Amino acid sequence: MLLQSLLLFLAASLGGMVVLIIRRPSPASFNLLLMFSGGYLFSITFLHLLPDLFALYADSRLLGLYILIGFFLQLLLELFSKGAEHGHMYETHQEEHQRPISPLTLMIALFIHAFLDGVILSSPTSHLHHTHGNDGLLIGVLLHKVPEAFALASILSKLISRKRTVIVYLFIFAIASPLGLWVSGYGSQQQFLSGQSSLALWGIVSGSFVHIATTIFFEANPGHRLNIRKFMVSLAGAGLAFVCEFLL
Ligand SMILES: [Zn+2]
Ligand SMILES: [Zn+2]
Repeated sequence: MLLQSLLLFLAASLGGMVVLIIRRPSPASFNLLLMFSGGYLFSITFLHLLPDLFALYADSRLLGLYILIGFFLQLLLELFSKGAEHGHMYETHQEEHQRPISPLTLMIALFIHAFLDGVILSSPTSHLHHTHGNDGLLIGVLLHKVPEAFALASILSKLISRKRTVIVYLFIFAIASPLGLWVSGYGSQQQFLSGQSSLALWGIVSGSFVHIATTIFFEANPGHRLNIRKFMVSLAGAGLAFVCEFLL
């Protein structure tokens, strides 16, 4: 759990620092990273998370409901986070007519989301039946953290002029996922969280992953123009998830 926490913290803080120190990556290369992480996250959700949940949760219809709750909760959170979870960069020219978001609202929405990112890794399934494939899930969350931190740092640096404040916010964001991992791990160890309620929480997070990954696909091809390169990159992400689940 310590190693997982450290990796989560590093992916988020370094991902954000890249934007602050070396400036933003070019939109083209950022998009390819997004498509890759989207393809991976989407596939690991369907190959690992959902099958595990349906195998372990007693009432599968209720589980379907939790997944839907997660999906719509993510939709709601993105009203406040401007979609930083799926790597959306908050283009000012598009949103001039809107009130700018407050950094605090953005941080609260993203903190809740990143906390849940960590919860999923505490894995109630690992002590229930298996330990395989959890690394695949960790890779997925790490791959998702980097563009998420990119987006957060670039939004924050537009909203806040003091770099030091941006860095403080970034570090607060970077501890959210390790915190989620520890709280839910500790909670199920001490039995604050029953096995079934952590599975319900997992269902909610899986639903939000479905939302994030599909939104990446939708936003990558505006106007439904086919871009074969992006398509191939997202297939490569899916392929890596397949390898992690079936071959490792
Ligand atoms: Zn978006
Ligand atoms: Zn996230």
